[in-house]
Amino acid sequence: THFGYRQVPVGEKAARVREVFDSVASRYDLMNDLMSLGIHRLWKRHAIELAGVRRGQQVLDLASGTGDLADRFAGIVGPDGLVVMSDINAAMLGEGRERMLDRGRVGNLQYSLINAEKIPFGEDRFDCVTISFGLRNVTDKQAALNEMFRVLRPGGKALILEFSHPLTKPLSKAYDVYSFSVLPTLGKLIVNDSGSYRYLAESIRMHPDQETLRSMMETAGFERCEYFNHTGGIVAIHRGYKL
Ligand code: SAM
Repeated sequence: THFGYRQVPVGEKAARVREVFDSVASRYDLMNDLMSLGIHRLWKRHAIELAGVRRGQQVLDLASGTGDLADRFAGIVGPDGLVVMSDINAAMLGEGRERMLDRGRVGNLQYSLINAEKIPFGEDRFDCVTISFGLRNVTDKQAALNEMFRVLRPGGKALILEFSHPLTKPLSKAYDVYSFSVLPTLGKLIVNDSGSYRYLAESIRMHPDQETLRSMMETAGFERCEYFNHTGGIVAIHRGYKL
C-alpha cells in the first residue's frame, strides 16, 4: 500500500532505492534498533542538539522515513512552529504519518512527498533543514545539498546525519564483516530480504567520507561547515550555515 500518495517518477538508482524501502517500510524501526543495537537513538539525539532548533521555528526534514527526527522537532517548535516531514517514498511516508498519529502528534506537522534533489519550496524559507540516513540514498547528492542551501533562510542551518568512514583500519575491517555478513543475515531473518541489506552496506561504502562531504557542503554555499564523528566514524553529523 502507498497510503494514497502518488509516487514521484525517478531514475534507475532511485527505483532500486524505492524497492529497498518499499520492502522494509513496515519493519523499519525494528531493524534500526537491531542493526545499530539501539545506538541510532543516541546519534539522533546528538543531531537534534546540534540543530539548536527553537520554539516557533520552521524545519524541513528530508528523507524522514518513519520520522524520528521530525517527531522530536515537532515537540521542540511547539504549536507556533512547523515541521515538514518528507520522503520520496510513499510507503515510508505513510508509515511515518501513522507513527505520528499514534504518538498524538498533530497540528504543527505537514507531510510531503519530496525528492531531496528538487525541493518544491521557494528560497529563504526554513530555519533548519535536516536529512538523517537519507543523503546516502540520493542519486545526485550535490543537487540535494544545493537545494538544502537554497530553501534555508540566511542564518539557517543544515544538519546531515549519515553513515561515514571508520577512522581506523581495525574498526574498518570489523565493520566490513558486520555489514557484509551479519547485516544481510539479519535482513534475511527479520524481513526475509538480504538483498536490501546488502544494498545498505554497499551504499555506505560508496558514500563520500567526512572531508569530502564537508567540501561538497562548501560547494553548495554552506559556511562554518564542521562534522562530529560518532562510534569511531561509523556515523558522522555534518553541520553548515547559510550566512
Ligand atoms: N530519516 C529516517 C531515519 O533517520 O531513521 C529514515 C532514513 S531511511 C534509512 C532513508 C530514507 O530516504 C527512506 O525513507 C527513503 O525513501 C528516503 N529517500 C531515498 N532517496 C530519497 C530522495 N532522493 N529524496 C528524499 N528521500 C529519499
